Parts: sequence; structure tokens; C-alpha cells
Amino acid sequence: MEEGFRLILEGMGEDVNREGLVDTPKRVAKMYAELMSGLSGDLKESDLLKTQFHEKYDEMVYLKNIEFASMCEHHFLPFTGRAHVAYIPGDSIVGLSKLARVVEFYARFPQVQERMTYQIASLIQKTLNPKGVAVVLEASHTCMTIRGIKKAGAMMVTTKLLGRFKTDEKTRAEFMATVHAP
Ligand SMILES: [Zn+2]
Repeated sequence: MEEGFRLILEGMGEDVNREGLVDTPKRVAKMYAELMSGLSGDLKESDLLKTQFHEKYDEMVYLKNIEFASMCEHHFLPFTGRAHVAYIPGDSIVGLSKLARVVEFYARFPQVQERMTYQIASLIQKTLNPKGVAVVLEASHTCMTIRGIKKAGAMMVTTKLLGRFKTDEKTRAEFMATVHAP
């Protein structure tokens, strides 16, 4: 990565040996290792929701305003925003912080927001076997706000609904009201 970024700088016409840039490729390589840590394989997606508790609770559990920062794989510029995650438990529940960790995990790959939304929902569905899962991601994409059409403030919203959130209008409305509540 270090060598690669040095080439990018050279390609831009920069002097890679000047003081301010001489260590930049090393810093950038370190930074990408952190931002793309999902690719290292150190953390397994199957471990993220492993600690479960058996509880009889069949109302919606939700965690809103989970801040995240990921990287658009088309331009390699960040997109940042908030995730809202809800599920209706089957036989088990997980600690709320675990839901935030799932969001964080999938943010650490070269991403597209649509896929990230789907991955979060489908891991919860697969691991917890709940009666329903709902995920909404709202994000601002720098590949749109600082370049191209430069529409600052535009938010991309993606939604994935499974189970009861998809089939039952009342449940879906309850979730959406929660997302839109101040
Ligand atoms: Zn992009």
C-alpha cells in the first residue's frame, strides 16, 4: 500500500521526497489498514453476535443513531452517517452494543451503502433468527458532496426490512416513526 500510494502521488505530479510528503505513504498505508480492518480477517462475522441471552421479549428492540464512517468502493472517498437497527426477538436477544459492533464491522470494508445495509440485516437474521429485522442507513457521500455534482447536504437513505417489518404494516410504521422521531 505504501508503494502504491507513493506511485499515486508521483502520478499526481508531486515530489514524493519533499518534507511534508516523505512519510505520507507510510501514514496512508497505516490508515487504510485501520479503515479497512474488515479485510484483515481478524474479526469473524460469525463471532459478532455470539453472546446471546434467552429472553421472552417479543416487542421491537431498536438502537438508533449509530454513527459510522465507511469507504465508497467506487471512488475511495468516505461516506458517513447514522444507522438505525431494530429487531423483534425470537428466542434470544443480544446486548445493544453488539448491534453497533455489527455496523462498525461492515463499515470497515470497501463498501456501497446498499450492500452494507443488506449485510447488517442479514447477519442479524441469520444469527439471531428473530421475527423481524429492520435496518436504515442515512449517509452523506463525499464522492457526491466534494466532487462531481457537489451536492452538500444530500443524504442517501437505504432500508432493508425482513420478516415482520416487511409483512406487517403496523410494525413497519412503528419502526419508521422511531427513525424519524427527533
Ligand atoms: Zn462514490
